Amino acid sequence: MSLVNLLSPHESGSEPRPTAAEAEQAVRLLIAWAGDDPDREGLRETPARVVRSYAELFAGYDENPRRHLARTFEEVGGYDDLVVLTGIRVVSVCEHHMLPVIGVAHVGYLPRNRVVGISKLARVVQGYARRLQIQEKLTADIADAIQDVLDPLGVGVIIEAEHSCMTLRGVNSTGARLSTSRLLGSLRDDHRQRGEFLRACRGA
Ligand code: ZN
Repeated sequence: MSLVNLLSPHESGSEPRPTAAEAEQAVRLLIAWAGDDPDREGLRETPARVVRSYAELFAGYDENPRRHLARTFEEVGGYDDLVVLTGIRVVSVCEHHMLPVIGVAHVGYLPRNRVVGISKLARVVQGYARRLQIQEKLTADIADAIQDVLDPLGVGVIIEAEHSCMTLRGVNSTGARLSTSRLLGSLRDDHRQRGEFLRACRGA
């Protein structure tokens, strides 16, 4: 079981992490840059609120999502079919524009001999989503974590998400959704299992 890697840049010891007060100063600067007065009443508490919101959106840097998969159950009563959790809400932040990415993830795996609590799959999605991400890497991070830690016979991850950097600005393509997938092992190679997984996701 590999719980290594994926330490945040701060844990791996590059630059010291700025304090919340320093982050609030940066938000003040952005407000002034936008053309408003950070000291007017309505904006006075805004930097602190923004930093608290960001702390939530970036909470993934303070955890190793692989840890959620460490506790498994081996008594599966002979169950040897796909486990699929569909419609997991994804809230992430695009690393190119720092704008929200909102969508759903569908996660499935074919257990070898142990399963994990289903809420843990959602926690893995959340742990990787709450960072600066690109959707392709987020999809791969989730699939690889399940593959490496649970060692199942197959893994499938599909994410469909709307990128505010596309829908709120630039080309303004409302409703455009990006779909990414990563299929490993039997979910990639076995026709029947791949079909079963994709049908479960489509029905979601
Ligand atoms: Zn973007």
